[in-house]
Amino acid sequence: MAKLYIVPTPIGNLDDITLRAVKVLSEADIVLAEDTRTSGFLLKHLGLDKKLWSHHKFNEHAAVEAVASTILGGETLALVSDAGTPGISDPGFLLVRTCLERGIEVETLPGPTAFVPALINSGFPADRFCFEGFLPPKKGRSKRLHVLAEESRTMIFYESPYRLLKTLKELADLFGPEREASVSRELTKKFEENVRGTLAELIEHFTRREPKGEIVLVVAGKPRKERDNQSETEE
Ligand code: SAM
Repeated sequence: MAKLYIVPTPIGNLDDITLRAVKVLSEADIVLAEDTRTSGFLLKHLGLDKKLWSHHKFNEHAAVEAVASTILGGETLALVSDAGTPGISDPGFLLVRTCLERGIEVETLPGPTAFVPALINSGFPADRFCFEGFLPPKKGRSKRLHVLAEESRTMIFYESPYRLLKTLKELADLFGPEREASVSRELTKKFEENVRGTLAELIEHFTRREPKGEIVLVVAGKPRKERDNQSETEE
């Protein structure tokens, strides 16, 4: 039966495409791509010549119904984003929800995504964590950060190199400069770098060396000691 496949693609290193992703892409009738040029290069690299439809955040609302009808008409579609797993800080959620509402089977392949290697590289507890994606740049930012100041789980943020220092400074003000954090840059690429330290140390590091490339910021949760001290003073 026709269905929607969600297909993760490499976040930098093309060798990270899975054998199954190649098989599913080669068998799909249509590939839905966030950027048809970017995905066109990947498909060419894989030796695949596929019909590509554009599916990005600006047309997703208008496109989902047509996509669902196409699948109901018997064609199997595969959604890819520019990099990583569709639906993770990328278009996908709306399409998946619409397909499920129409009774269309959705199958997500496991594969590359930036936050998992960043989380494991950080060395912080990964038994419980929260993925925060991109922080709001303006509206709602302060409120979100104040809520997260009480978060005890490891926190993961996607961040732009231009905003990293600002975010590190805001976190240091709210969480304290001694809170441990880890910055993973350019994961899976030639100049991959993982810098670990306190927020104060990371601010110093990235003040000396301008941050460049794609970044995941992982921040340790509020330590138990701080939480215990706080509840004692509140009693
Ligand atoms: N769908 C993707 C995923 O599964 O990770 C995320 C897409 S989001 C639009 C792009 C953000 O992911 C970047 O700004 C960066 O924060 C993070 N990212 C993507 N590739 C990365 C890489 N190679 N190294 C570090 N961070 C990366």
